[in-house]
Amino acid sequence: MAPRRDELDARRLVGAPAMNARLRFGAVVMALVVAAGAAHALRTGPPRTERIDMVVIHSTGGPTCDLRTGLPIWVGAGTLEDNLRQIEAHPTLGIHHMIDRDGTARASVPEDQLAHHVFRYSGRSIAIELVNDGDGIDPFPAAQLDALVALLREIRQRHGLARDGVRRHSDLDAGSMACDRSRRRKVDPGTAYPHETILDRAFRSP
Ligand SMILES: [Zn+2]
Repeated sequence: MAPRRDELDARRLVGAPAMNARLRFGAVVMALVVAAGAAHALRTGPPRTERIDMVVIHSTGGPTCDLRTGLPIWVGAGTLEDNLRQIEAHPTLGIHHMIDRDGTARASVPEDQLAHHVFRYSGRSIAIELVNDGDGIDPFPAAQLDALVALLREIRQRHGLARDGVRRHSDLDAGSMACDRSRRRKVDPGTAYPHETILDRAFRSP
């Protein structure tokens, strides 16, 4: 089954406090109604059947189709707590780690269990979400990137990860938005994320 990241992104519209300033397409839409999902936290996933050889970097913010207007909008980063609560309540989607702007790292689904976070590659990968608008403008603070490097080094030790196994969500999903075929649906973590620098640091010999 293809994970529906758009569905997740739409859920993030609810309670995203700083989103108004971040909307990129001119439509300010707060009247989104999201059907209540499972009330329990999704902290477990199905067992893995594939070897882990990939980490996928995401940002919590990004483009989505507004359910009310059918127009593309940009959803801001939101808070770590809100994002974790929403994804853990989601019946099908999940992530393994989320890192806040101040470097606080929180685990969600255990790494030895599968979380649906990217089309086609979830079975072999670990998901790391960075709290960020994902728009190429919102900066990634040093504390957040330091925590990401530390986590990647740990994952590298646990799973024998190779440098080219660390991918951005935008590297893996080139699909277009259902509501605007001229726009990519996944551009996270965005151009403000210093991918090569992170790889250099994470794969430098100790
Ligand atoms: Zn993503």
